[in-house]
Amino acid sequence: MGEFELIERYFRSGAGTRDASAGGGSGVLLGIGDDAAVLELPVDRQLVAAIDTLVEGRHFPAGCAPQSIGHRALAVNLSDLAAMGADPRWFLLALTLPAAQAGFLEAFSEGLFALAREHAIALVGGDTTAGPLAMSVQVLGSVPAGEAITRSGGRAGDLLFVSGTPGDAAAGLRHLMQAQPVEGADADVLDPDLQHLMNRFLYPEPRVALGRALRGIASACIDVSDGLAADAGRLAAASGCGASIDAAQLPLSPAMLACHDAAAATQFSLGGGDDYELCFTVPPAKRAQLEARLANVKCRVTCIGRLVEKLSLQITRDGKPVDCDTRGYDHFSSAG
Ligand code: ADP
Ligand code: MG
Repeated sequence: MGEFELIERYFRSGAGTRDASAGGGSGVLLGIGDDAAVLELPVDRQLVAAIDTLVEGRHFPAGCAPQSIGHRALAVNLSDLAAMGADPRWFLLALTLPAAQAGFLEAFSEGLFALAREHAIALVGGDTTAGPLAMSVQVLGSVPAGEAITRSGGRAGDLLFVSGTPGDAAAGLRHLMQAQPVEGADADVLDPDLQHLMNRFLYPEPRVALGRALRGIASACIDVSDGLAADAGRLAAASGCGASIDAAQLPLSPAMLACHDAAAATQFSLGGGDDYELCFTVPPAKRAQLEARLANVKCRVTCIGRLVEKLSLQITRDGKPVDCDTRGYDHFSSAG
């Protein structure tokens, strides 16, 4: 299979740019096949762009299910759009593959396009090269002019919220890395709590609908990719504030509590990465408005603290400081 056949078979056919039924592909004047795509936004919208790379052995374990790799390549980028309150529109895929393997490509593109269809985002171009397995997805979204949510709009006193149950993905990844195939054991009889945690790593759900609902309500927002404490700290710093988090309020999933004691669960929740939940702030006066908007969003949110004037991140339980890793992941730190 050559490069052009590969693109045609696995990416152009599934691009969905002509399937306007789900809103996908609208505004595509020219998609895959030319030297570049030509895209059109309504005049009252602004373009929101983000790109993220996944490298085998760094962002996902070697031998990870290709369907999950395809899902995550797009999900981590949709999460960035969600954090800005943007509507997903188009994406580009730069894929580096060791070999053109039909089995891998089929499952990878299935995972990728299943999520693309769910969010009505159309693949409009890319690049395909040979080399160690890695991929960059660039997403393009839009917001009504002036309505993008940034990290920097928070003020001291604003309430700090997080969606979902952060920590599950990191706990799931830990179990994935430790999972040894047991001789004679049936893979399907894996403990359902462990399976749940692993799926939170393998198939994160970008909080696009929540991000959209937060437009005009949240003062600041960030997506939790590096760990809740690290990312909440970044939001606070960008807003010129500190943050105070009450560890007793951290939302922990039943699966997490079934597999880990409270201390470990708290550490996963604060320090674990790869959740792709949203962490955001809301002025107290807008709390009722937030609750009303959330009625239409299928996603739990929890108030875990507030922004404060003092420029530091304080995490407490019953008034006593809680230790945790607040640094997040750094590809180029000496520890990394
Ligand atoms: P060029 O040499 O002009 O960059 P390419 O041969 O790389 O063109 O790509 C041909 C067409 O296929 C372009 O429209 C490009 O956007 C698209 N394309 C290449 N790889 C992918 C991919 N992995 N997914 C989607 N579109 C792709
Ligand atoms: Mg090219």
